[in-house]
Amino acid sequence: METTIDIVEADVTHFGEDDDPETFIGDEIEYDLGIGEDPPGEEIPEGPPTPPEPPSLLPAVHLAPTLKVLRDEINARWPKRDRASDGWIGDAAHQKSKSDHNPDADNRSVNALDVDKDGIDPSLVIRKCIAHPSTEYVIYNRTIWSRSRSFKSARYTGSNPHDKHLHVSVGHSATRERSTRGWGIANAAVPKLGDRTLTKGCTGSDVRELQNLANKLGAKLVVDGDLGAKTDAWIRSFQKSKKLAVDGVVGLKTIAALRAATTPAVPISQPAKAKPGSRTLRRGMTGEDVSFVQRWIGERRCGKPNGEFNPQTEAGVRWYQRMQGLADDGIVGPLTWGKMRVKVTY
Ligand SMILES: [Zn+2]
Repeated sequence: METTIDIVEADVTHFGEDDDPETFIGDEIEYDLGIGEDPPGEEIPEGPPTPPEPPSLLPAVHLAPTLKVLRDEINARWPKRDRASDGWIGDAAHQKSKSDHNPDADNRSVNALDVDKDGIDPSLVIRKCIAHPSTEYVIYNRTIWSRSRSFKSARYTGSNPHDKHLHVSVGHSATRERSTRGWGIANAAVPKLGDRTLTKGCTGSDVRELQNLANKLGAKLVVDGDLGAKTDAWIRSFQKSKKLAVDGVVGLKTIAALRAATTPAVPISQPAKAKPGSRTLRRGMTGEDVSFVQRWIGERRCGKPNGEFNPQTEAGVRWYQRMQGLADDGIVGPLTWGKMRVKVTY
């Protein structure tokens, strides 16, 4: 007996992708995926594989569980992304062709997912996909990364350019289809210091970050990610020493003061009128390019645009970098300039 599910319009792909895409692998090409710029994510442990359906029952047509994990992570990281070009099941016209968008005959699993390129960082998704054991190949922007070619980037010579969406195919073995291993994409959901205001009773990775900074200043706290009485007492004494409001509330000002106290400032000679994109900016620097950064990110995060790269500006830059999926080092280098649509001239 076959069970059925209602497949909604949004699930259907309409791209008329080529049959058997791996026959369209062309010459190897250079493709800069910016490797090494990912913010560190928390390790997502692999759970047990999702149990297979009982053998007597042919399951309903479904997206392979490993791709559900991928899609959930992409949605968690970029909740406001454009989903117009998303889809997973082939439209009627393509049901007869050989495509991972069609359900497998044996278990009705669909082993391909299309993700709209808008509102996500496609390079980051590709990097994570080619590192995941379930992935068979990825196609994006006239380029294919295939397991059969050790995921080296190669020209995709099929007719569909894949310039509006990214296609991911996974292997057809049960282990790979049903893997629950994380893809390392949802790490934006892991709170970082500065993402929220911390008070007594808060727990999380951002509290651990806070405790580590406090210990750099001699606090001797247990780094347990739990903002308990000892951490709270230390915060209050720190606030007092910095002439901040002594309320135990870790907001932008306290965080900025913490970072200032734990990061040595770098003395740098200052060109008088530096254009945006003409140098790398970090705390302690001044100039018109700093004002540009402050205006771009906004007064609420960076403080008044006064051309001084102060701790609050640094906190604003870190926030902006996290929003853009960059490593939040608080330094405005070529990648961060790029996100501000500034041409890098150095
Ligand atoms: Zn596709």
